[in-house]
Amino acid sequence: MNPARSPGSSEGNGHDKYVERRWDMVENQIVSRGIKNARVIEAMLKVKRHLFVPENYIDSAYSDKPIPIEKRQTVSQPYMVALMTELLSPAPGKKILEIGTGSGYQSAVLAETGCDLYTIEIIEDIAVAARKTLEKLGYLNIKYKVGDGYKGWEENAPFEGIIVTAAPLDIPDKLIEQLSTDGKMVIPVGDMSQDLFLIENTSEGVKRKKITSVRFVPMTQPSN
Ligand code: SAH
Repeated sequence: MNPARSPGSSEGNGHDKYVERRWDMVENQIVSRGIKNARVIEAMLKVKRHLFVPENYIDSAYSDKPIPIEKRQTVSQPYMVALMTELLSPAPGKKILEIGTGSGYQSAVLAETGCDLYTIEIIEDIAVAARKTLEKLGYLNIKYKVGDGYKGWEENAPFEGIIVTAAPLDIPDKLIEQLSTDGKMVIPVGDMSQDLFLIENTSEGVKRKKITSVRFVPMTQPSN
């Protein structure tokens, strides 16, 4: 892999002064912390994170932290996006469900790895804005839904991967049910203290593994 490092190198739509910053982000925050999957690394080098954050955060778009978007939601820290994507073993054509479209940044990273992406967002304004950003950038094959992701997206199940970017208090059974055999789910679980879990739906049963402590915005829970 030899990504374009020099600012101004061709990127399809002209000069991108953030190429260098993305390289530094990938080197210092992602590869240095052990992310190895080449598809993930290439996607993180390509996706223009600064176009997914509010204007007043553009300058810190590539720093090692989450960034607030609308309505008390956040774009996850770059490393967390890379880690969760790597845990899903993304591959071209792999059918993935994302819960919590948010800014669309994680969606773009998944789409860039070639995954066949379905994404659900509960706040309509946020969903509309994300779709606009993603379409403008040429990610045209993503399927969108406005609704409660706690229930998954039954009509399109099963999914080979599910990625959840808002934390429920427990692992929703409906989501496990919508995983294909050998499907994987990455999900933060908890309240003030949260852990990231990797759930695997193997032929010998559902396996769960705790990956690390995390801090995500709460998932809106169903009221009934
Ligand atoms: N992946 C996003 C992170 C967004 S923050 C990104 O890269 O920017 C989490 C998002 O989950 C918020 O936009 C929030 O509105 C959404 N969310 C919370 N509860 C939800 C639910 N039950 N169903 C779908 N989306 C939900």
